Amino acid sequence: MRFSLDDTDGRARAATLELPHGTLTTPVFMPVGTQGTVKAMTTALLEDTGAQIILGNTYHLFLRPGADIIARAGGLHRFSAWQRPILTDSGGYQVYSLAKLRTLNDSGVTFQSHIDGSMVEFTPEKVVAFQELLGVDIMMQLDECPPTTANRDQITAAVQRSLLWAERSREAWQRRESALFGIVQGGLHEDLRAASAAGLIALDLPGYALGGFSVGEDMQHSYPAIAASAALLPPDKPRYLMGIGFPEDIVRAVGFGLDMFDCVLPTRCARNGLCFYSEGRLRIKNACYRDDMRPIDPQCACYACRTVSRAYLRHLFLADEISALVLMTIHNLHYYLELCRCMRAAIMAGRFREFQDSFLASPAGHAHDAAATDNDPGCAQAHKQT
Ligand SMILES: [Zn+2]
Repeated sequence: MRFSLDDTDGRARAATLELPHGTLTTPVFMPVGTQGTVKAMTTALLEDTGAQIILGNTYHLFLRPGADIIARAGGLHRFSAWQRPILTDSGGYQVYSLAKLRTLNDSGVTFQSHIDGSMVEFTPEKVVAFQELLGVDIMMQLDECPPTTANRDQITAAVQRSLLWAERSREAWQRRESALFGIVQGGLHEDLRAASAAGLIALDLPGYALGGFSVGEDMQHSYPAIAASAALLPPDKPRYLMGIGFPEDIVRAVGFGLDMFDCVLPTRCARNGLCFYSEGRLRIKNACYRDDMRPIDPQCACYACRTVSRAYLRHLFLADEISALVLMTIHNLHYYLELCRCMRAAIMAGRFREFQDSFLASPAGHAHDAAATDNDPGCAQAHKQT
């Protein structure tokens, strides 16, 4: 893996990351393909959106279909027919959010599969070995990801255990084509985040991620800790903010100096009939779109916006047609990917601050507020025109 900074503007960075399956330019959004597929998409459709890299998940792929099947296929790229880079999460987060009967100690975590009830053990070494077997471009260390409600003592223990696991992951790491990233934990405690980052940096890993930040209403409280944590990371390595978030969160985080992002929001929201666009967000089932012959976003160049109307998408969605979910997923992913392309262009042109201010002041910069209040600016706009 080779990382080079192409330009900076304030703390915002435009970088290039060369990986075995392709070269990424940052800021980069990574669509989430938990089960080895981005939901409602084929690899060809995904390539058309301009996705540079996708995310897979160790927890899910380990439980189903399992290491033997993917090894037999010759790795995750061959198994899934996606030839561009893949990053896999270690499964630490899923063990805490999905698995039952979890027991945790310094050696690893034992849990009950949510699929067949069998008991499974994850150790740092086993998780590295599985990701190497998948043949991914970037693999994440196993970490302990405590809930946001955890107290300071619990978060301190999670930081120490995650550091210990990072050291063991590094020792177990054999396949150098798969770059190993460490995960900074520490909740909203800046001193714990600093200790976590310092311990990981001493391991001289190829890249670093910030884990354990939630989405939604807590984000306002998370921004200072995200900004402070990003500033602790080495400037010559990629920085990945895990699992975040709404468009405005990503725009703010790029301003803090982060490079890589993933989130289920664009794909999950699309399947629920919610589109992100230049006016914020649009709920396709709303009656105001019944005879609205405009595309989701007249400013968008995606396949859905070039070809079909809001009225048609609403009809498909209400009729439970799968194509509605495909078309809205194409649009939402294109929106996130285009946002990253625009941020990169702004950084290269030395006008990121203007871009950020303008975006955050626009309706598109309040997609979370709009979702929380169920306010549909697209609907109001449609009413105005009729
Ligand atoms: Zn579109």
